[in-house]
Amino acid sequence: MAGRRTDPDVLVVGGGIVGLFCAYHLRRTGRSVAVVERGPIGGPLSCSSGNTGFVGTQGAAPLAEPGVLANGVRGLLHPDSPLYVRPRLDADLLRWLRLFRRACTDEQAAAGHRVLLELKKRSLRILHELCASGPLAATFTAQGMVLAFRTPQGYASACRSVPAAVAGGVPLRVLHPAELRALEPGVEFDICGALYNEEGAYLQVPEFVRELGRLVAGTGVQIHPYAEVTGFDVANHGVVRVRTAQGEFRPRDTVIAAGAWSGRCARTLGVALALQPATGYTITVQAPPNAPRLPVVLSEGRVAVTPLGDRLRFGGTLELSGLDGADSQRRMAGIRRTVAAYLPRLEPTGTVETWRGLRPCTPDSLPLLGRAEPYRNLWVACGHGHVGMGLAPAGGQLIAALIAGEQPDMDVAPMRVGRFDPTVRRRRR
Ligand SMILES: Cc1cc2nc3c(=O)[nH]c(=O)nc-3n(C[C@H](O)[C@H](O)[C@H](O)COP(=O)(O)OP(=O)(O)OC[C@H]3O[C@@H](n4cnc5c(N)ncnc54)[C@H](O)[C@@H]3O)c2cc1C
Repeated sequence: MAGRRTDPDVLVVGGGIVGLFCAYHLRRTGRSVAVVERGPIGGPLSCSSGNTGFVGTQGAAPLAEPGVLANGVRGLLHPDSPLYVRPRLDADLLRWLRLFRRACTDEQAAAGHRVLLELKKRSLRILHELCASGPLAATFTAQGMVLAFRTPQGYASACRSVPAAVAGGVPLRVLHPAELRALEPGVEFDICGALYNEEGAYLQVPEFVRELGRLVAGTGVQIHPYAEVTGFDVANHGVVRVRTAQGEFRPRDTVIAAGAWSGRCARTLGVALALQPATGYTITVQAPPNAPRLPVVLSEGRVAVTPLGDRLRFGGTLELSGLDGADSQRRMAGIRRTVAAYLPRLEPTGTVETWRGLRPCTPDSLPLLGRAEPYRNLWVACGHGHVGMGLAPAGGQLIAALIAGEQPDMDVAPMRVGRFDPTVRRRRR
């Protein structure tokens, strides 16, 4: 994939879905662009490579909601908490949790939801255009999505939320049992009820990421796999040189899009990003004959089920356990138990693959998109958290507009990079 080596106008650090969409849109503004990626494009370290791939209007709620802290911050230390925090003394984590608690209000959650939904809608439009034909078409399926509820309370509360969701632009509706049977004739669910979102769609990964890498390279972007960034040289509030495992670059602008590793990368430049990796797992099995045809969310269990042709993928868990540690066996057993409870007749045969990914999470679940002060030519595109596949296409478009000096056609202020950094706020006063 590597093209002829020249210094690009813009260097993008990170070749996950976010970095690739930044490169795609930057190229469309006429810039010469290079992407440097530590591993191969679509390799297993990238969070974009093994996830459940849901995109579309479902799931735009920020993680920070008032209900999450029903048992206080200490409730997050319980291993069965939907957002589990592995207890440890880590100043960055404690600061992140303080900011997360501050974001757990009705107003902030509603404001965050509006921003995420707008980004998801824009992204879905881009995906429909991009995947209409060519190799990407086989990696994108838009046939709707089922949300299954096992408890009467969960189902009742979901049904109550439908009118507000529809008013907000999410085409949710109650799915009657006969309709569910018609949609999924061979599948036996043990549930109280289900909703349906006709805008539900999903990407098949890592195939989508690899094809996107090829498409971007085809537009003239230089892609450099195995080119880990090892350092930056700065002068006069500018990044003047980026050092990588495959030599140096002197770009006019640099974009940090290194997912969960963006904080580490930015820290070497003195830029603090409020970012925590949230570990999740997927288990991919050979699809049994009675596997769902549509993607399904096992709602109370917070597990997603993605049909991938002759394979079936289950994914879930959200665990703040740092860049290195997590209890994978316990978590994957929990995912399997949830699947067995909702789909008791499903008997997955043969595990094809298990995978662990690190979601780059901000305290308010909004991405960090924009210029990193005090630098004139350093940009950040990260923090897409639990919904990065569904936000990246539009997020890349916004970054490209900002770098081109254009006014983006969406308010980017809620996503500004310095919003959690007290030194940036002091500098602005
Ligand atoms: C179990 C699970 C399920 C998920 N399901 C969904 C879903 O259904 N829908 C959805 O929208 N989102 C989902 N997500 C979230 C989604 O996967 C992420 O938000 C998204 O992949 C983040 O993309 P990214 O490009 O920011 O990060 P990444 O894909 O991690 O890309 C960052 C890249 O930067 C590279 N890098 C790091 N450091 C350096 C360096 N120094 N030099 C060069 N390169 C570097 C890394 O190798 C990596 O490839 C899920 C996540 C998990 C874990």
